[in-house]
Amino acid sequence: MAVAYLDHAASTPMHPEVVDAMAGFFEGCYANPTGAHRMARDARRATDDARDILAEALGARPGEIVFCGSGTEADNLAIFGAAASGAVVCSAVEHPAVLRPVEQLGGRIVGVDRDGMLDLEALAAALDGDVRLVSVMLANNETGVVWSLEEVAEVMARHAPGALLHTDAVQAFPWLDVANRAAPADLVSVSAHKFGGPKGVGALVVRDGVELQAQIVGGGQEAERRGGTPNVAGIVGMGRAAQVTVARRAEVVERVGGLRDRLADGLRDADGGVTESGVQPASGTGAPVDRSAKVAGSCHLCFEGVESEALLFLAERDGVYASAASSCASGAEHPSHVLAAMGYPRSLARGSLRLSLGAASSEADVETALAVLPPAIAQLRRAVA
Ligand code: PLP
Repeated sequence: MAVAYLDHAASTPMHPEVVDAMAGFFEGCYANPTGAHRMARDARRATDDARDILAEALGARPGEIVFCGSGTEADNLAIFGAAASGAVVCSAVEHPAVLRPVEQLGGRIVGVDRDGMLDLEALAAALDGDVRLVSVMLANNETGVVWSLEEVAEVMARHAPGALLHTDAVQAFPWLDVANRAAPADLVSVSAHKFGGPKGVGALVVRDGVELQAQIVGGGQEAERRGGTPNVAGIVGMGRAAQVTVARRAEVVERVGGLRDRLADGLRDADGGVTESGVQPASGTGAPVDRSAKVAGSCHLCFEGVESEALLFLAERDGVYASAASSCASGAEHPSHVLAAMGYPRSLARGSLRLSLGAASSEADVETALAVLPPAIAQLRRAVA
């Protein structure tokens, strides 16, 4: 049976070059990079090289990169690390790695509109001189919708000029020039396994001069900002993955964007009760949503009257691996907080399907999905009719 893996936003396979680059650091060069002998120096050089590559890819200086254990840890470090000196603010559609810390700290949550765009007036109203940090993502992990940090920074400059801007760029990096788009941010999170690197490695850009309290305190690694022996193989893999991603990004965006459009159009043509999330296009264009306002790999649809879980079950049975984009396993009970924030009615949010493509996605994946999903949706509609 052909398998169509359409869950790249959850995790995407490692590039073969990444696997090769990492191999030498499991065997051969296995020393602790903080040591003084030759093998330790070799390991340190490898992590420094990866730091240089990542810094360039993120528009940062090498000393501004803090390697850590995941995108979640990078987000936590940004938020908890800044919170001691003031209030924290985030959007209602952040990943739980941002949302939960902000909730735990009693922070302020700013809403979005039906298109999934940040409500800039509500942001302005949430800001004052007590605010230390604002966290807004660059691309949303469910809808793929992309935000402008320049607009956010402008609002901050007027209403909370002393506050730091953090962006979770975890879903953006595979698709967007983060070096440019995240330039207004003081803190930027990324995660290797979303762009062809290994799981369990993330990084936070901490711009020079930004004071952040370390959350893991130990041997003073990462310039006292994150204790713990660095994951050398993982960091090397992250650097190589960043290099490959940046080198191929334009070609991948073009090719995968075309595949995504075919997939989304094919599913819309096959079913009348589908809503594609995203920014409504200018009137008269005839387009369903402005897909240029989403990352190229994102195809996010809601099927009225269909239960995501039942659909995912039928899809998996026939070789299509996707996700409901629900924050909870029982999607029917707890529809996605992202769709709830966008004001989607429960009946629609319960039928959400996130098909996410990646650099390795192919025409065959789209064909398989278009062969499997429409009959599955029709079957579920018949069952409730
Ligand atoms: N932020 C976003 C937007 C994500 O999509 C994810 C992963 O799903 C994370 C953070 C967490 O990254 P990690 O899986 O490396 O902890």
